[in-house]
Amino acid sequence: MTPPMATVRTRFAPSPTGALHLGNARTAVLNWLFARRHHGAFVLRLEDTDTERSVAGGEAMIYEALDWLGLGPDEGPREGGPFGPYRQLARADRHRARAAQLLESGRAFRCFCRPEELEARREAAIAAGEPTGRDARCRDLPAEDMRRHEAGSHPAAIRLRVDSGPVEFTDLLKGTLTIDGDDLGDLVLVRSDGRPTYNFAVAVDDIDMEISHVIRGVGHLSNTPKQVLLYRAFGVRPPGFVHIPTVLAPGGGKLSKRRGAAGVLDYRDRGFHPDAVLNYLSLLSWSAEDGEEFLSPEALVERIDLDRLGAADTEVDEEKMAWLSGQHLRAEPAERLARRWAGVLDVQGLGLEDADLRRAAEVFAKRTRLVADARAELESIFRAPDLGGAAARQVLSAPEAATATRLAREAWGGTAWRPEPLALALRDAMRESGLPGRGFFPPVRVALTGQPHGPDLGEVAYALGRKRTLERLAAALS
Ligand code: GLU
Repeated sequence: MTPPMATVRTRFAPSPTGALHLGNARTAVLNWLFARRHHGAFVLRLEDTDTERSVAGGEAMIYEALDWLGLGPDEGPREGGPFGPYRQLARADRHRARAAQLLESGRAFRCFCRPEELEARREAAIAAGEPTGRDARCRDLPAEDMRRHEAGSHPAAIRLRVDSGPVEFTDLLKGTLTIDGDDLGDLVLVRSDGRPTYNFAVAVDDIDMEISHVIRGVGHLSNTPKQVLLYRAFGVRPPGFVHIPTVLAPGGGKLSKRRGAAGVLDYRDRGFHPDAVLNYLSLLSWSAEDGEEFLSPEALVERIDLDRLGAADTEVDEEKMAWLSGQHLRAEPAERLARRWAGVLDVQGLGLEDADLRRAAEVFAKRTRLVADARAELESIFRAPDLGGAAARQVLSAPEAATATRLAREAWGGTAWRPEPLALALRDAMRESGLPGRGFFPPVRVALTGQPHGPDLGEVAYALGRKRTLERLAAALS
């Protein structure tokens, strides 16, 4: 295990364009885990500059998903922090100031070409088989032309001077990569209407927010050399870049609403345990050294190690996520599972108190994978038994029924109220009765639940509680 690094600052930088899907959530998970692992800061920055794609409530949806997963940021639009504002649109002053700084140092220049001229020259270059990026006739304008342009009303774009020759950058997963400066050309940083370009805003914000590690989807790899050039232009050391593989829909292909539940909150609504979704997402392209898969958030924080990330795209496997959900539900203190069940059960209608749910959680958690899995079972156990039905009447009218029910009541009256002693006491009572199991147990079960089949009777009685159990046995006897 690597020792903690000094001042790790990671960021999650979603655009508020809709519900957070599993792929983006996985990016958030790795950034959060890595920041926690190194006692650093996890920053949420909203990239809201594409106002046409932003949706109303987009920010709230992102927070709702992060909160559910337990990935609360240390700094962000809601939290505030020393590097704010945390919405990109509100950082326009910083973007302008940083562009002015590059003009001042001579690393950037004003370009007075109109977009249509640039486009026409681009097409001509393509036709002639020449590189298209290297079109910067304003790069070294004679001072006189410059003054003339500046005096005119035509607004200028701001572009970065990018020299020919290799631009090298390093990605933790892919190693050192190189692209030629000619293929990038003199990057536009600020458009002639004053809006910063995507890569300029991202790099300036990452620099200003002192981000130490940029962990993001592999789709952003082609942006990285452009951003690295900006770090160099500002004389700032680039962060560690980690481009993580893509999360694919079950069966392959892009994640979407149509292919399984793509949104993080869809999994909440289907009853998955949040820690299981976090656990699952962390395992998509990472594995613990000893191969352990069921890991609590704390265990993940302790073990996460970017050196163990794989580069292959992975399909969502809901079966595995459900298995993990079962593991996490089982490991949860009964108190917390009881609270989850309180949200999906008709607690009032069933006359349940906190203590009832807690006891039920102790014995029935092992039978569940999703939060709502135990609902039908709990309802059938706690609902007052219908002793008037044909099947129940048949069992209870058997000659041995009264004996079994009475002996059960006597045995349980003095038993410690735990599932195992209750089961043992019932077995002793059966032996004492001289009745076979198939004659003894069914009436007891029907008396308790009205059903001929169900889980272990010691567990059922334990969940029902002493008072309810003894009352039900008495009611069946009368
Ligand atoms: N806003 C970008 C996205 O949602 C992320 C940019 C980045 O991580 O550099 O994909």
